[in-house]
Amino acid sequence: MLLAKKNLVFLGAPGSGKGTLAKMLLEEVPLAHISTGDLLRAEKASGSELGKQLAAIMDAGKLVTDELVGEMVKARLSKPDCAAGFILDGYPRTLKQAEMLNGILAAIGKKLDAVIYLDVADEVVLERLTARETCSKCGAIFNKLSMKSAKPGICDHCGGALVQRSDDSLETARGRLEVFHSTTSPLVDFYRKSGLLVTLGDNGKEQKLKDLLSALR
Ligand code: ADP
Repeated sequence: MLLAKKNLVFLGAPGSGKGTLAKMLLEEVPLAHISTGDLLRAEKASGSELGKQLAAIMDAGKLVTDELVGEMVKARLSKPDCAAGFILDGYPRTLKQAEMLNGILAAIGKKLDAVIYLDVADEVVLERLTARETCSKCGAIFNKLSMKSAKPGICDHCGGALVQRSDDSLETARGRLEVFHSTTSPLVDFYRKSGLLVTLGDNGKEQKLKDLLSALR
């Protein structure tokens, strides 16, 4: 499938389904998937000095500095696989990051085609986050309420153990949602003004994918 719009940002509260929708879109089109959360978790798991600093920030549900995430995203966007298009999943999350992203893209001769906003109510997001299970091996996402694995605690795709992310406890999830409202949600207006915003309602995964594909054609 060929899309007219292929340089994308996915914007939404934690637990709004950015990662899940990104994976569904990737089954239709070969875009590079850039999840800053995954990149940061990989650094954290490496046990490096930087990883230890990241763990303290991320486990508290706070945001990593704009500069650090910006460096990471710039390096990733410069890789050849991004030529076919990319999904920035979880980046930008602050106005400063959005401005930095414009600079990064201009410097490497690219531009954004659309910003996909997943508009989901807070109660729904909190329920999803605290019931979320993530595969410790392949990163696949399940949900104890709505998207159960066939065998409890075991990944359907690779047989890895399913775990709760350390920042998905109720208290930290609430904190992350507050960070979203105070710091990230101004980006909705920012991108609406630049004419890039596509808002998807919370009307089921399959419908969302259909709406997304028709907005990108
Ligand atoms: P979610 O979208 O469910 O919050 P992510 O995997 O995107 O989860 O992010 C997990 C954590 O990684 C965040 O709470 C934050 O600490 C850090 N992080 C991810 N992306 C960014 C970003 N763009 N800017 C700052 N911190 C980030």
